[in-house]
Amino acid sequence: MSVPLLDVNAQNLPLEEELTAVFTRVLRSGRFILGEEVEAFEAECAAFVGAGHAVSMSSGTDALLAAFMALGIGAGDEVLCPAFTFFATAGCIARTGAVPVFCDVLPDTFNLDLESAAARLTSRTKAIVPVHLFGQSVDMEPLLAFAKQHGLAVVEDVAQSIGATYQGAGCGTMGAFGCFSFFPSKNLGGFGDGGLVTVMDGDLAEQLRRIRNHGMHPKYYHATVGANFRMDALQCALLRVKLRRLAGYAAGRAANAAFYRENLTALPGAERIVVPRENEGFGHVWNQFTLRVPGGRDSLKDHLTKAGVGCEIYYPVPLHRQECFAGLPAHAIQACPVAEQLSREVLSIPVYPELSAAQRDEVVEVIGRWTEA
Ligand SMILES: *Cc1c(COP(=O)(O)O)cnc(C)c1O
Repeated sequence: MSVPLLDVNAQNLPLEEELTAVFTRVLRSGRFILGEEVEAFEAECAAFVGAGHAVSMSSGTDALLAAFMALGIGAGDEVLCPAFTFFATAGCIARTGAVPVFCDVLPDTFNLDLESAAARLTSRTKAIVPVHLFGQSVDMEPLLAFAKQHGLAVVEDVAQSIGATYQGAGCGTMGAFGCFSFFPSKNLGGFGDGGLVTVMDGDLAEQLRRIRNHGMHPKYYHATVGANFRMDALQCALLRVKLRRLAGYAAGRAANAAFYRENLTALPGAERIVVPRENEGFGHVWNQFTLRVPGGRDSLKDHLTKAGVGCEIYYPVPLHRQECFAGLPAHAIQACPVAEQLSREVLSIPVYPELSAAQRDEVVEVIGRWTEA
């Protein structure tokens, strides 16, 4: 039996009739840019996350870029971000003209190490980007206190963690902005690209709406330079169908993660792999279930691939070691030993909600043949 890392059709095809009806509705409306579907999707997302406002964007990347633009971050500024995350987190900082200053992460949760961030703070630091990686919140209380103490704006990268919580608060509601992605592999996976920014403050929400539409207000008047960061009405309409089911999807992911945690740790030779940590009081939404395999990651990856079990390395190169950042000032690309170690040890295995019981068993059995060998 083969088990893919992700099966978008298993989630989308059962909704085919409903999605097709939505397509027809939007087609007949003749309204494809902004408008009712976009506003309804934004209101529903804001309610789901627990934010005051939500502004949809063309992608998670553009959501981050728009947030940095709204904060006025640019040349001469520095922004603290983890070295272990998807490229977009740092790429957007660099695109504003600011310098991404890479910080190390914690070995058990893969999330930002605040001590490392504190060591890299300078008088030019303007913001900090907690990335809620793989579905679990950063430990926000100390991070928010640190940001407040040093006057830093907090931009949450929630691309992998829609619906995740920290001590009851929704991820994306704790910083100045929360930036989400609807890339097909994210927990609310779209039919193409899409993104969203959540914000508590109404004036900032209005500013984001202008930024995503060329800084235009009123029509054909531009007091600031924005861009075209709009999300299609069709994409918003289709995602409304899946948003209604998102809590159910998250429950499926959590059940799979609990199954793995119990069964992988009971395998003969289980000490060869490390299952991911789930912090108490953090509502984890399991975008990825990421093992650490000290000393044997590539061997386990080959073994799984040969047995037809999908797996992937998120992420093989930490960002401070990316070629495009080699020219940054030395203090921005200091060693991040944990991020470097993780990039050699991590392996993500299938955790998507539609995994069948037989598929889950298969994943554990295949891993077991490797751990006991
Ligand atoms: C996916 C992702 C993004 C970018 O989202 P896109 O919609 O693909 O542009 C940003 N940050 C993180 C952590 C991501 O996983």
